[in-house]
Amino acid sequence: MRDRLYRQLPSVDRLLRADALADVPRAVVVEAARQVLAALREAIAAGDVQALPDVTLAVAERAAALRTQRLRGVINATGVVLHTNLGRAPFCPEAARAVADVAAGYSNTELRLADGRRGGRLDGVRGPLRILTGCQDAIAVNNNAAAVMLVLTALAQGREVVVSRGELVEIGGSFRVPDVMALSGARLVEVGTTNRTRAADFERAVGPETALIMRVHPSNFRITGFTERPTTVQLAGLGVPLVEDLGSGALFPGFGEEPVIADVLADGAALVCFSGDKLLGGPQAGVIAGDAALVRACRRHPLYRALRLDKLGLAALEATLRVALEGDPDRLPALRMMHQDVGPQALALADALRAQGLSVAVEDDVGYSGGGALPGEGLPTKVVAIRGCDPDALARRLRLGDPPVVARVARDAVLLDPRTVLPGQTEALIRAVLLARRALTGDVDHSEPQDRSEP
Ligand SMILES: *Cc1c(COP(=O)(O)O)cnc(C)c1O
Repeated sequence: MRDRLYRQLPSVDRLLRADALADVPRAVVVEAARQVLAALREAIAAGDVQALPDVTLAVAERAAALRTQRLRGVINATGVVLHTNLGRAPFCPEAARAVADVAAGYSNTELRLADGRRGGRLDGVRGPLRILTGCQDAIAVNNNAAAVMLVLTALAQGREVVVSRGELVEIGGSFRVPDVMALSGARLVEVGTTNRTRAADFERAVGPETALIMRVHPSNFRITGFTERPTTVQLAGLGVPLVEDLGSGALFPGFGEEPVIADVLADGAALVCFSGDKLLGGPQAGVIAGDAALVRACRRHPLYRALRLDKLGLAALEATLRVALEGDPDRLPALRMMHQDVGPQALALADALRAQGLSVAVEDDVGYSGGGALPGEGLPTKVVAIRGCDPDALARRLRLGDPPVVARVARDAVLLDPRTVLPGQTEALIRAVLLARRALTGDVDHSEPQDRSEP
């Protein structure tokens, strides 16, 4: 039986000659055929195949998936504003327009239009950053992890950096402060304890080999109880440049315990590093701001060239900073969402779904800003809960819809949090929910949704 099935499998050559695949690029057919045949051989070996399916059709479907753009916009109904898996901050319209403007054509990325000479690619972001943070100078790189890496490499390679044991943390993925330190060639000098470190601990550790004191903001955790942490002012007075990795870093006050960037610099930090796509509400980027000589040393280090921002990131960052310059945090979608009262939206969404015959409930819930910002602080929120069907199955249907909708599953329900649903997406969300719900209860469309993602 198995041997017969194996023998019936068409060769890649035969599939390449199939009429149904004639319009598909050859290399795509080869890859699709390889994947389909490998899966079939495995299924035959496991005894899962009684009769061979239409292999040409399966290859055509696989090829279509391989030719479909994987990265696409989704509706974020999780309520997590800076969801790293969902691309963190949505851009303000100004940033989206700036990206579109430079993406499809040429731009003055490194050209001074006034005299036609070469200009610095950071000229557009430096000015706004000076005004917004009070820094002397600033540069931007690919992300904040890169910013920290560059600061340590350019300013402390072969020398010592003093860090509190309470801040030798893992920031995410494989980004751990001690590992980054080792990679940069700086020597880590640990002081204090996990829960308590004092300025005197730093003072004792500072010596002729010390290049920097570093402070790392506890972005994604809290140490509570019997704790002590020296202030920026205390550490800035120890005669060595103080670098603060702020993680999110807030431009505006009012974001919980997230330090305001301008305050940290005013308190005496020589340099700060922060992300572009956390509480700045812009593109993925990392900003290094502060003392002009130190910033210059970072920019002149060869590593800067490897970490620099591309024109799209630069365009979005500059536009975001210029919007921030106007002084109204609500003009940046991520910041607006965090402060928003979503009660009215939740009620309106529930009404709209009920009007279509769906039974839903509006419930209190706690959301999180995400992205390693405001870890201890849940955002009180209102969600629309859908019950009465398998919530995991419904959530999956929603994810595989068009546009995909990402929701949370909890309390045996699919929860839709309108906080992160953009103003123009509500209609599409309602349509998507109705389609997914009807498909599950069997009113329409019994077909399995196609998962077009790569295997
Ligand atoms: C998030 C974070 C980083 C990494 O920033 P990315 O922009 O994601 O690279 C580094 N340090 C701290 C403290 C953070 O919170």
